Amino acid sequence: MPINVNPVPGLDERVNDIRLRTARIINEEILPIEDRLWRGRWSSEANEADLDEGRRLREQVKEKVRAAGLWAPHLPQEYGGMGLDFLAHAYMNEILAYAIGAASLFGVVAPNSGNQTILVKYGTEEQKRKWLLPLIEGTMESGFSMTEPENPGSDPRSLTTTAVVEGDEWVINGHKWFTSNGKKADFFIVMCRAEDKTGELGRSGQMVQIIVPTDTAGVDIVRGIGIWGHGTSDHCEVRYEDVRVPLDNALGQVGQGHRAAQDRLGAGRIFHCMNAIGQMWRAFDLMVERSLTRQVHGGLLKDKQFIQGFIADSYMDIQSARLMTIRAAEMVDRNDPQARTDISAIKVFVPAAYTRVADRAIQVWGAAGVSNDLPLAGMYLSARTLRLADGPDEVHRILIAKNVLRQYQAGGTWDFAG
Ligand SMILES: Cc1cc2nc3c(=O)[nH]c(=O)nc-3n(C[C@H](O)[C@H](O)[C@H](O)COP(=O)(O)OP(=O)(O)OC[C@H]3O[C@@H](n4cnc5c(N)ncnc54)[C@H](O)[C@@H]3O)c2cc1C
Repeated sequence: MPINVNPVPGLDERVNDIRLRTARIINEEILPIEDRLWRGRWSSEANEADLDEGRRLREQVKEKVRAAGLWAPHLPQEYGGMGLDFLAHAYMNEILAYAIGAASLFGVVAPNSGNQTILVKYGTEEQKRKWLLPLIEGTMESGFSMTEPENPGSDPRSLTTTAVVEGDEWVINGHKWFTSNGKKADFFIVMCRAEDKTGELGRSGQMVQIIVPTDTAGVDIVRGIGIWGHGTSDHCEVRYEDVRVPLDNALGQVGQGHRAAQDRLGAGRIFHCMNAIGQMWRAFDLMVERSLTRQVHGGLLKDKQFIQGFIADSYMDIQSARLMTIRAAEMVDRNDPQARTDISAIKVFVPAAYTRVADRAIQVWGAAGVSNDLPLAGMYLSARTLRLADGPDEVHRILIAKNVLRQYQAGGTWDFAG
């Protein structure tokens, strides 16, 4: 079933045009061949001919995306991207995400896209030449290495990976895990605690992101961590033992590490939520489609009240998740200082709504719902994972409550229409 996209009343004409053109590519170029685009990619019984066909078809779609001027919505035009502003990008994402994996066909592949954004913002000209351009051209891959097994990722200030200045080099020691894309990456952006005895680079103990090529001596990619019952994955455990890189590999200033990570995650959370909405939209269409055709116990599923309840509850979940996310995106767009509260609110609400919608769609489809013939099982696992990644639910709930309480304790109240 194609995604039903029409101009949004009141939305900038240019953004509506981008949404419509994106939907055309999704509906005409991707959905009709979705199974062939990805066939065998995640299967141990992959057949070379299927894999080859998939690669060829994906390249063809990418060419059409480029020709339509829809390539790399997250990048400025000078780097070959669309140069979209924040809101336009958010509105495009909900359409992109309708077809599973389609973002990569539009040049958005995590964690490379997040690293590209950080390199655009914090990279020196030399770093851009050496790392950003190959990442954009697709001749390099990257990872973001922050979370550590021995320390809580929910409290990033607890991290203990050190980067000590010795002469004109950083010497890095630490232990990370869940560094996504770890097997393919040519370099990692590693979050470290800087130690500089000279004091020239800033106070000791401050956070710094350092670019580390994965073939540097001392970088040990220990394993791909198996998740969700799979034997392995590309989320890697990595040890850094006396890893030496030039001082010039620091990305931004010492002390800016957390700020840069927040830049990546803050906007990223809105984009992830808009993606989740596109995926819920798809799950909803699949659920309704099945209810219209599946006969059980002498009648169509659509006529059973349990199923009507699933449809109604999912409708409300999607509408509320979408409106909350657009509100948060608008707040970020106008630099509203309260945006942090709303970003945390969507980061809790949207993955939970997404989990519920995917769960109901699976239920309606029965066994087919958990099969690889449909995207629903993958959606369900992604939705569950989203409740942990980019800050678990509890951390965001605490932040919402703190911001609200601070306001009331200072004698104010909350303006829900603000
Ligand atoms: C598929 C996947 C991909 C990932 N990719 C990357 C990546 O590329 N790079 C990277 O650096 N990291 C990555 N991560 C790691 C992710 O960012 C962390 O898992 C996340 O930040 C949570 O950290 P943690 O796992 O250490 O959990 P912990 O910090 O140990 O938290 C465990 C639980 O404690 C609870 N909790 C935490 N704080 C509080 C509190 N104050 N009050 C009450 N309860 C609380 C929450 O329920 C939380 O889930 C990935 C994770 C997954 C699952």
